[in-house]
Amino acid sequence: MADKLIFELSGRGKVGYALPKPDVPPLFPEELLPPEVLREYPPQLPEVSEVEVVRHFVNLSQLNYHVDQGLYPLGSCTMKYNPKVGEELAKLPGFRDLHPYQPERTVQGALKLMYELEEMLCEITGMVRFTLQPAAGAQGELTSLLMIRAYHTKRGNPREKVIIPDSAHGTNPASTHLAGYRAVEVKSDPQGLVNLEELRRLMDKDVAALMLTNPNTLGLFESHIKEIADLVHQVGALLYMDGANMNALLGITRPGDLGFDAVHLNLHKTFSTPHGGGGPGSGPVGVNEKLVDFLPVPLVEKGEKGYKFDYDQPNSIGKMQGFYGNFGVMVKAYIYLRMLGAKGLREVSEGAIVNANYLMKGLKDYYYLPFDRFCLHEFVLSGSRQKAKGVKTLDIAKRLLDYGFHAPTVYFPLIVPEALMIEPTETESKESLDGFVEAMKKIAQEVEEDPELVRSAPHTTPVSRLDERKAAKDLDVRWKG
Ligand SMILES: *Cc1c(COP(=O)(O)O)cnc(C)c1O
Repeated sequence: MADKLIFELSGRGKVGYALPKPDVPPLFPEELLPPEVLREYPPQLPEVSEVEVVRHFVNLSQLNYHVDQGLYPLGSCTMKYNPKVGEELAKLPGFRDLHPYQPERTVQGALKLMYELEEMLCEITGMVRFTLQPAAGAQGELTSLLMIRAYHTKRGNPREKVIIPDSAHGTNPASTHLAGYRAVEVKSDPQGLVNLEELRRLMDKDVAALMLTNPNTLGLFESHIKEIADLVHQVGALLYMDGANMNALLGITRPGDLGFDAVHLNLHKTFSTPHGGGGPGSGPVGVNEKLVDFLPVPLVEKGEKGYKFDYDQPNSIGKMQGFYGNFGVMVKAYIYLRMLGAKGLREVSEGAIVNANYLMKGLKDYYYLPFDRFCLHEFVLSGSRQKAKGVKTLDIAKRLLDYGFHAPTVYFPLIVPEALMIEPTETESKESLDGFVEAMKKIAQEVEEDPELVRSAPHTTPVSRLDERKAAKDLDVRWKG
C-alpha cells in the first residue's frame, strides 16, 4: 500500500541500480568543480531500491481513479482514452527539446506541423483559419469574444450584450464578462433546446454575439440552428460555437456549414490529450472571413523559403499566450488526426453517439430521463426519484466508485435538478457499458432497500468522503518529517 511517503521508505545506502566497479580511477565533484559551487551537505533525497520506487508510484497511482483503470463517463468533459502513441511521439527529442527562441529555419518541421494541423482543423470545422494559441477552451472563448469586440468596434460600435443559453458551461458567461460584455440568458424550451420565441425577443442591435454549444450540454443537437443563425445575423451579431462537444460532430457536420462565425475546439477533449489533471490544454479558435483579420499574431504561413511566423496583421487583437500555445498538445492532435483520417474521425463520433444512446436506453427505466429523445454523445439523467427516498445524486456518484466506475458529471447542467450527465465516449466497449448499467441498476435497487449504504459510500476507496471545503481552502502538502 502507498501509505508511506517515499522519504519514509528511505534507508542509508539503498540504491536502484547495480553497476560493476569502474576500471578507471573515480572522479569526485571536489576535483572537478570550484569549491564555491559545491554543496555543503548532500541533497536530502530518498534512498530506495528500484522495486521500492516502482511499487511506491504504482501504488500511488491506484489511490485515485483514472481512465487507465476504467470507465470515466464525465459528461461535458469527453474523458476518452487517448492512444499512448501520441505521448510517445510528442516525447521525441525533435519536438520535446525545441526552444521557442530558436530561429525559424531550425524549426521548419514544427512550423509545418502547426500549419498542417490548422489546415485539418479548418477542414473539420468548415472555418477559414485557426489560431492555435489559446491554452484552454475558456481562453478560446475569450479570444473569440475579443475578436468579436474588435469586429464590432471596427464597424463603429462594440455593442453591449452576449446571449447565452441557460444550459451553457460556466466559462461562457465568465469569458463574456472578461471581454467587457454583459451576459444575457436565454431559456431552454421544454425539449431542452434554445427557446426561439425568447431568443427573437432578446435580439437587438446591442447584441454582439450568441454563444451556443452544439450539441448542447444536454447532449441534444440544436435542430433550429439555421433559424437561430438567421436571427443572429439579421441584427448584425455573430454566432459563436462552444465546440467542446465536437466529439459528436466529427465528419458528420461542420460548424462553418451550420452558420457559425467562430468556434473553439478543446484539443484536450476531442483530439487526444488526456485532461483532468489541470493541463496542459489547447483551445484553438477557428473563424470565417468576418473575423479572420482579427486573429491573434503570429499565424504560421507557408512562403517560398519555407514556413514562417507572420506578425503582419494590422487588425489583430495581439497575442493571447506566451509564444505559440501548448505545442506538445498540438503534436498529439496532429498524430491523432493523421492516424484516424477522415473516415476514422467520423467513426469516432458515430461510436460516441451509439454508446451514449445505448447507455441512455439501458438506464432510463431506473433513473428519470427529463429529455427522452435521441441524444448525441451524452445525455442527462436526474436523480430526483432517488432524492425523494433521501439519497442525493452526490451519494450515487460516490457509490459508483465502490463498483469500480468513476462518477458522471453531477449537478450540471444547472437546469436539471440532481443532474447526472453521462458521456461514455467512443473508446468504451459494449462490455464496459453493460458493466456500468449493471452498477447503476444495483445502486437504484440499494436506494430502495438500504439507502444508508449509498448515503455513506464510498466504502472501498482508500479514503471515503473528503471535507471538500477544507481540501480547497486549507490545502497543506508540506512533508512534516
Ligand atoms: C470543458 C468545457 C469548456 C471549457 O473548456 P476548458 O478547456 O476547460 O477551459 C467550455 N464549454 C464546455 C461545454 C465544456 O465542456
